[in-house]
Amino acid sequence: MRSESPARRAQPTRRRRAPGGDPIPVPDAVELSAAENADLCSGCVKCCTYITVEIDAPRAAWEYDQWIWALHHRGVRLYVERPERWSLHFDTRCTQLGPQGRCRIHGRHPMMCREYDPRSCERRLPLADIRAWFDTPGRFERWVRAERPGHWVRLVAWRRARAARPRRPVSAARASASTPRAD
Ligand code: SF4
Ligand code: SF4
Repeated sequence: MRSESPARRAQPTRRRRAPGGDPIPVPDAVELSAAENADLCSGCVKCCTYITVEIDAPRAAWEYDQWIWALHHRGVRLYVERPERWSLHFDTRCTQLGPQGRCRIHGRHPMMCREYDPRSCERRLPLADIRAWFDTPGRFERWVRAERPGHWVRLVAWRRARAARPRRPVSAARASASTPRAD
């Protein structure tokens, strides 16, 4: 994992996509006051109900295996943005979000929240740089097989090799784990 990245990216790249072409940068919108910004969020709490963590693009078989494992968990998703930016997404409601949709610690809430610009949130801008989005291991595996055939072949071979490895008895594994190292 590359970083404990922001719960939300403070300033996602603002781009739209030309039909069949490269992403086109979208000019920055005019400055808004904090009150005007807050007003854009009226009635919405979406960005207080998930976090994202940027990860390294997988290459090795064990890395694919790790994210397949993650996708077996409820509320975990994985997505890829162009050109090759990978993130894990967790559906998880902030504990400071009150039942009326108000932040309980407003005024001392994290800078991450304060500096987030609603004009650039996914509710307003199409996520045009998203190239793939996975909510199940099966979807992810089908994508790897189609889009990363070389990686898929390595993953299948790695699984076979790991499955064929002789297993050590549990007692022997425990004994070696508890033996103090000489160095
Ligand atoms: S920033 Fe966007 S997603 Fe978050 S509350 Fe405002 S409008 Fe909703
Ligand atoms: S601290 Fe407040 S603004 Fe920040 S995510 Fe939680 S509820 Fe939302």
